[in-house]
Amino acid sequence: MSAVVVAVDGPAGSGKSSVSKATAASLGFSYLDTGAAYRALAWYCLERGIDTHGGDDLVESLSGFEYSIGTDPADYFVRVGDDDVTHDIREPRVTKIVSSVAKVPEVRQYLVDLFRGIIASNTSEGIIVEGRDITTVVAPDALVRILLTASEEARMGRRSAELTGVDASTTARELSSRDAQDSRVVDFMNAADGVTTIDSTDLDFDQTVQAVVSLVHSSMQNT
Ligand code: C5P
Repeated sequence: MSAVVVAVDGPAGSGKSSVSKATAASLGFSYLDTGAAYRALAWYCLERGIDTHGGDDLVESLSGFEYSIGTDPADYFVRVGDDDVTHDIREPRVTKIVSSVAKVPEVRQYLVDLFRGIIASNTSEGIIVEGRDITTVVAPDALVRILLTASEEARMGRRSAELTGVDASTTARELSSRDAQDSRVVDFMNAADGVTTIDSTDLDFDQTVQAVVSLVHSSMQNT
């Protein structure tokens, strides 16, 4: 039997990473964070002084980009070659440039193929894949397709609670500008046909995880 694929898209600060990881742990599924690959490529470019504004150097850098990610929700890691970059890819210098890396079509095609390879080789009962274009491009045939949203105010509040030491208005500005840049490339603010929207504005973390778990259970029962 092939694995159950759960596709989760949403904007920054919607809680999709932590919710997807906790849902995967609760269901015994694998977890694939796709944003980590865009971040790792941005980190790799910074380390090597590669221009990230869409020139040939960025596309050529893909051939030397040795990427690996842990898909066990209890053993999450991100590596580029022998370097463990799990924490480095969350640095503001990476977040600042990641959207310019992600808008290059060759980069997207390369990473979409890489994600599909990881999904195809998954051996657990299911895999939760989260990002911006999972329901529409990476896995449009997934059994469960979710758009996880929250009001702008809730998203900004959650993100600034995560980033201690950064003032709330800076966080809000950076988050909106990243969402604006990213939504020029893929639409993750509106649910595509067949995608279920879960709005977490008035849900706490456990309630949001429960909403996703219930949807996965009911979809599995209906197949
Ligand atoms: O999810 P996260 O905030 O870590 O994603 C980092 C960046 O990677 C996003 O701002 C976006 O530019 C890019 N991304 C993407 N498509 C995905 C996942 C992430 O373009 N599926």
